[in-house]
Amino acid sequence: MGTEHTVIRDAYVYDRDAVVDLSLRDGRIDRIAPSIDERGDREIDADGNLVAPGFVDSHLHMDKAYTAAGERFPKYNETGTDFGAATSLGAEYQNTVAPETLRDNAIRLGLQAAANGTLHIRAHVNVGSDIGGTSVIEQMLSAREALQDVVDIQFAPMVTTGVLNDPDGEELLHRSLELGADVVGGADPATRNLDTGTTLDTWFDIATEHDAQIDPHIQHPSTLGVHVLHRLAEKTEQCHYGGKVTASHSYCLAEMSGLERHLDRPGLTPAELKGLPDGQLDRAVDRFADAGMKFVTCHPSTRPGMPLFELDQADVPVGWGSDNISDWIIRHAQPDALQGALVNAFKLDYNLYSFASNPALDLLWRMSTENGAAVLGIEDSYGLEEGNPADVVVFDEPSPHWAIIRQATRRYVFKGGQLVAEDGEVVPELRRQLLG
Ligand SMILES: [Zn+2]
Repeated sequence: MGTEHTVIRDAYVYDRDAVVDLSLRDGRIDRIAPSIDERGDREIDADGNLVAPGFVDSHLHMDKAYTAAGERFPKYNETGTDFGAATSLGAEYQNTVAPETLRDNAIRLGLQAAANGTLHIRAHVNVGSDIGGTSVIEQMLSAREALQDVVDIQFAPMVTTGVLNDPDGEELLHRSLELGADVVGGADPATRNLDTGTTLDTWFDIATEHDAQIDPHIQHPSTLGVHVLHRLAEKTEQCHYGGKVTASHSYCLAEMSGLERHLDRPGLTPAELKGLPDGQLDRAVDRFADAGMKFVTCHPSTRPGMPLFELDQADVPVGWGSDNISDWIIRHAQPDALQGALVNAFKLDYNLYSFASNPALDLLWRMSTENGAAVLGIEDSYGLEEGNPADVVVFDEPSPHWAIIRQATRRYVFKGGQLVAEDGEVVPELRRQLLG
């Protein structure tokens, strides 16, 4: 870290609803005041516009990034995603790709995210005896080291075929955590592993041994998903693991909200859900709050009807993720919190542009900032406060609301007080250093 001193003047800070000056020195925010006299080595005039801490991307797959890119037209894109084909393409790719390609694509993704103002990431990474054990996550760890002054990254290893189906499944999760991974990941305990109880027990045993958080993909639909989330809540309580468990996606929550009944849109959710008893959602939200659970929803796949306000009112943090970037599963998402929020404002809508209201835009903003920090468990050092790391983004719009609607330019992005990107582009010197 250099000792450069930057002063950002006339900065609107949303949490304070105030225009202030900020001083960044020795990697920290050393002062926030209505006016700072001392001049910095670098002076930035925010012109009364929004200045915010970096975005948190709570769910990203760095180990497949850009596999559909690099040609005139997106690859694997003549139809919608075929998950069967995507799974075998994934295993084939991760078995044959050159390690440096995996690493470079992850670095490229980290740089692109940082240029968009994202300074914290939780990335899910495949491990499995069918894809070379921990060889993929080893490349991701190497990419993280290269990106250490650009973006903070947590890794959640997941056994691609299901932790119980892979003879080395448990061992690979243990080894990944020993190598430096942070979070126990996984997917769909009731279908991929065919034994919800034993899968949850296995994940929790491994996590408690390493004092790691847990963040599985819960993609089961309808009542099965609801059942699994209740089991996850039960296990969280039993293990006193409140605050350390996140359920990614949880599409079933959208189906619990009962929206399909008052909208009467055929085909929006499975017909068998029409009979869900009233009050089920409220009871579930209360339970998740009591258990200390957290959730993530990703803009490429989130569903209308996700009960984001209900969870927010119960103080259950819901973070945002960009999920898959230009790979064979999702070709059209970018690692961009403002894109995510705008897509969500359209997608989550259920009644006359309700998700573009100011309270909704506020919630969408918090999903990719403070809620994301809560999901990652970094809330104690996150935010524009004196003493916190100097992770700061300067926008060209006056508020989060306009930043989302007008897809603001990220004029300057600072990580630990160092300038990493300007006007949406990574500082050229940094790109050269990391990618040659
Ligand atoms: Zn995912």
